[in-house]
Amino acid sequence: MDIQVEGSNNRVAGRDYLELNAQLSLTPEQLQVLAVKPCPSCEVRLVTAQAQTCNHCLRERVANDQKVKVGFVIFLVFMVWGWLLKRSGPNAGLLELVESLIAAGGIVLCGMLLLEMFKLWWVCYSEEFFSAVWRAVVRLVNGGRK
Ligand SMILES: [Zn+2]
Repeated sequence: MDIQVEGSNNRVAGRDYLELNAQLSLTPEQLQVLAVKPCPSCEVRLVTAQAQTCNHCLRERVANDQKVKVGFVIFLVFMVWGWLLKRSGPNAGLLELVESLIAAGGIVLCGMLLLEMFKLWWVCYSEEFFSAVWRAVVRLVNGGRK
């Protein structure tokens, strides 16, 4: 590498500065769209005017939501396990403990699957279902008049 100490033909890393030879003619609205502002949640990173949070805060929030979900599932498993143990009585052996723990996990897993299936159904068919119910109600109300 040949460094010219006089300063001719030298460049700093290309990404560090921007050569603006072109004339910029932007309206104030366009400039406002392009402008950056500090992220509202961390106030450290910059986001564009349209973005609500920076990617870092978004990732943190998603990770936090996942932690809360996992904690809730563990809590549910222990609740169901406790309920199952209460049913088996105070003299439960080790095998019964393990069995009821596995059963509790299974029950929570089935519940989660049912919930997910219901969510899918809700997304796909809830509108259709409620319009059908609404039509039936209207038919019931109007039925007497006809
Ligand atoms: Zn942020």
